[in-house]
Amino acid sequence: MTHSSLAIATQNNEFDESFMHEWTCILANLSQKFGDATFKSWVEPLCPVSFNSGTLVLSIPTRFMRDWVKSNYLNDITSVAREINPKIFAVDIIVNQEAKSSFRNINEEKKAQEENKKKESPLGSLEDISAPLDIRYTFDDFVVGKTNELAYAAALRVAEAEAVTFNPLFLYGGVGLGKTHLMHAIAWHIKKTHPNRKVLYLTAEKFMYQFIRALRFKDTMAFKDQFRSVDVLMIDDVQFISGKDSTQEEFFHTFNALVDTNHQVIISADKSPSDLEGMEDRLKSRLGWGLVADIHPTTYELRLGILQAKSEQLQQPVPDVVIEFLAHRITSNVRELEGALNRIVAHSTLVGREITLELTQDVLRDLIRANDRRITVEEVQKKVAEHFNIRMTDMHSAKRSRSIARPRQVAMYLCKILTGKSLPELGRQFGGRDHTTVMHAIKKIEELIETDISISEDVELLRRMMQS
Ligand code: ADP
Ligand code: MG
Repeated sequence: MTHSSLAIATQNNEFDESFMHEWTCILANLSQKFGDATFKSWVEPLCPVSFNSGTLVLSIPTRFMRDWVKSNYLNDITSVAREINPKIFAVDIIVNQEAKSSFRNINEEKKAQEENKKKESPLGSLEDISAPLDIRYTFDDFVVGKTNELAYAAALRVAEAEAVTFNPLFLYGGVGLGKTHLMHAIAWHIKKTHPNRKVLYLTAEKFMYQFIRALRFKDTMAFKDQFRSVDVLMIDDVQFISGKDSTQEEFFHTFNALVDTNHQVIISADKSPSDLEGMEDRLKSRLGWGLVADIHPTTYELRLGILQAKSEQLQQPVPDVVIEFLAHRITSNVRELEGALNRIVAHSTLVGREITLELTQDVLRDLIRANDRRITVEEVQKKVAEHFNIRMTDMHSAKRSRSIARPRQVAMYLCKILTGKSLPELGRQFGGRDHTTVMHAIKKIEELIETDISISEDVELLRRMMQS
């Protein structure tokens, strides 16, 4: 340890237990905010050094890391730190190779040093670059429904194919809907059936990190060779390299080299190729050359299916009412749905209480509130009126012609499922109608959803539009 780092290590004593607790909270928040990959690469190596007149000084092992974190993450880190401790006005980052070790015991120190050494060598082996695969993310554990059947079928086809058919396979959809799950499932499947094939799975962020590191070590040839020697390349969350020109350029070349030599490329993103902003046009267009499959937001049925499967896996009987309640109320994405179920199961095990609807509502109060983005009756009426091209006043009027009454019924139905208002309340807001009229409307639309494809599509579209 050098002199300067010793000095810093002594300074660390100024951090009492309550500060370290705050620091843990800050880390937890940042990990949520940035996601696993970013957090591990850029935030975890940070280590508190001192806190003086409102400035929290953190250290990080290398200059390169310091510059990167400062230009990309410092604002977020500062605002999160301030949220946890309002006395923190600013955050500064300094370079200190050994600062971290003062917080660790000797064994950990050794490990850290080895890791640092590894970090300093240009490129790791394929296993090092490839992100770990989650053992739970297999095809068997993926619940298929209308909204993800195309993506599932495409992924399975690519995984089972003996020769490259769709290239690239491009999977896209909102957050938490199963893109990463499907990619891991493909990787597992290929590893099992063709252990000799070289499969490389990583996030676009990691790709960029590897690329920048190669540039830094003037080792781009090795970088190119490494990426071009794989049989299957999977890049997750490719939207990350939007606007990052040199990484995109390199990615484009890697991509072309692989596709041209008939090696499988699999990409995921949060948007379709043509909607990816900040991507070069030639890249966008090439990304869409193979098979593009999207994953839509979940339906109630799929959420039910997923909850049933997960509760079976947890070997924890969860009453139907609870499952139905969750499927109704946690509509955002599968990750939150899973999280909610895990929380209930954990809670019930810990406090030794049976899983009931009451317990569920209790434990998930905050989550449910966040999922209930308050949609108002007016909002529904307005959207439905626009959609069917009728006037807003027709929502309240007594007109009975089908072209007006039907949209009004649709609006009542959507109000019932989206606003949580009572039938009499809805009656009042629809021009002072009786609650039985509202009930009749809801029944009618429920029937039509089963029998009339155009109504069911309209309703689904409107619901999605308002819930997004
Ligand atoms: P994305 O990459 O699209 O953000 P993930 O693949 O990480 O989403 O999925 C989030 C979580 O939800 C994961 O734990 C995953 O296993 C689970 N999940 C998503 N879709 C399904 C599904 N259809 N069946 C089972 N689990 C799913
Ligand atoms: Mg993902």
